[in-house]
Amino acid sequence: MNDDAGDEEVTTSEATPARRFEYAPAPESRSVVTIRPSYGLFIGGEFVDPTDGSAFKTVNPASEEVLAEVSAAGPGDVARAVAAAGRAQRDVWGPMPGKERAKYLFRIARIVQERARELAVLETLDNGKPIRESRDVDVPLVAAHFFYYAGWADKLGYAGFGPDPRPLGVAGQIVPWNFPLLMAAWKLAPALAAGNTCVLKPAETTPLSALLLAEILQQAELPPGVVNILTGAGDTGAALVAHPGVAKVAFTGSTEVGKAIQRSLAGSGKHLTLELGGKAANVVFEDAPLSQAIEGIVNGIFFNQGHVCCAGSRLLVQESVAARVVEGLKRRLETLRLGDPLDKNTDLGAINSPQQLEKIRELADSGANEGAERWSPPCPLPDRGYWFPPTVFTGVAPAHRIAREEIFGPVLSVLTFRTPEEAVAKANNTTYGLSAGVWTEKGSRILWMAQRLRAGVVWANTFNRFDPTSPFGGYRESGFGREGGRHGLEAYLDV
Ligand code: NDP
Repeated sequence: MNDDAGDEEVTTSEATPARRFEYAPAPESRSVVTIRPSYGLFIGGEFVDPTDGSAFKTVNPASEEVLAEVSAAGPGDVARAVAAAGRAQRDVWGPMPGKERAKYLFRIARIVQERARELAVLETLDNGKPIRESRDVDVPLVAAHFFYYAGWADKLGYAGFGPDPRPLGVAGQIVPWNFPLLMAAWKLAPALAAGNTCVLKPAETTPLSALLLAEILQQAELPPGVVNILTGAGDTGAALVAHPGVAKVAFTGSTEVGKAIQRSLAGSGKHLTLELGGKAANVVFEDAPLSQAIEGIVNGIFFNQGHVCCAGSRLLVQESVAARVVEGLKRRLETLRLGDPLDKNTDLGAINSPQQLEKIRELADSGANEGAERWSPPCPLPDRGYWFPPTVFTGVAPAHRIAREEIFGPVLSVLTFRTPEEAVAKANNTTYGLSAGVWTEKGSRILWMAQRLRAGVVWANTFNRFDPTSPFGGYRESGFGREGGRHGLEAYLDV
């Protein structure tokens, strides 16, 4: 065992029980946001009723309370939205000088900042994520993306894609439920900066923050039709992908649906980027600062209840420190607070839907049935809503389903390794390739690992850090194309 490894907290933990301070409840007020009883579709700058669609209800996953009734766009509504986007692109947004487009994007960014609390509370109500995360991560990053791409709108000729890169036209954008507003911003901001117009479809279980964004776009006086927002289920997404007026499809979601979209677009000439699942390795070497690494492991897999495509769901820990890391991790997990997502002390919120809860349960049960050892801290679950306790599996073999399949929940699989070569082999032993983490005090080892890990993003001595200037995307079954940074513009330009 490396004598330098870890620090006091980890090395003395066997004698010290976990300490958890009792806090009084600190709920964020939901009165800052007005939720309408029902919402139409956002087409041509207005909320309109669906012509051939239907309606569905969106619920708070922490309480099962119905929040609002939302329209489901039918094929005719998709056609209306694509036509509105096509007109706006041809007549207004495409011909507009980049510096004028930038003004709108800056304005959107500033209004997002002004209405940040409202957006954060609404996101937490509809998604179930802790207010601490929607307030401190999601919404600030939404504003940051609009600010960042506003800066590019008048500099496209200097972005390395030729002197006069052209927009593609209408972008059909489909986003998932794990970061509803942030994924919308990842897609809208670069598309708009590049001169495209958009038809966005939020996920069925989390439509409300996109609809509030529509109000913000109205407030920013964005020209009608530049952004259209169609709520609905998978059928709406499929109709959008298939519409001949769409020049580019950008999708974030499951590998299964991503593959179906890719098949359906083959030979169509449409541009496509896919950001799909992941099964990231978070690799901890014996020389890492172990207490810091434990915080990184917790952030890697329990951030957003593990509903994160780049989550560090496979912990690869060097055998010499494995027992200490697992013990320190368990102590840390005993201090996590699971419960009301609107409470500012909450670390773990609700699982987004009963379907997702069922998927997590099924995969976690398979881990136990296949022989891994399951552990959760004492963690009473609320009576209503969809909840899953933080869970750690040790004794996991690479062949176990919990080491191979994306669980998309607060479940960590722990594997061990002896040498750096073995760590690389195990980390790359996945069909995915979205992200990875490396914890070591040696800079040379970080570079050695980063060159060998087959992952679009490699974090060193940190995890789950996002920045609009930094490209994000995957290899293999994690998809292709990059979002964020200068690279993110390329997906929306005819280069
Ligand atoms: P999906 O891939 O089904 O959903 C992502 C988005 O695509 C949603 O807006 C969805 O609409 C839409 N969609 C569904 N079917 C189609 C289709 N045929 N054509 C076009 N769009 C479609 O993910 P799920 O919500 O079903 O989650 C399943 C699993 O996917 C999770 O357990 C997780 O493992 C993974 N996942 C990965 C994500 C990532 O960021 N990589 C994000 C979300 C999930 P609707 O919501 O109405 O179904």
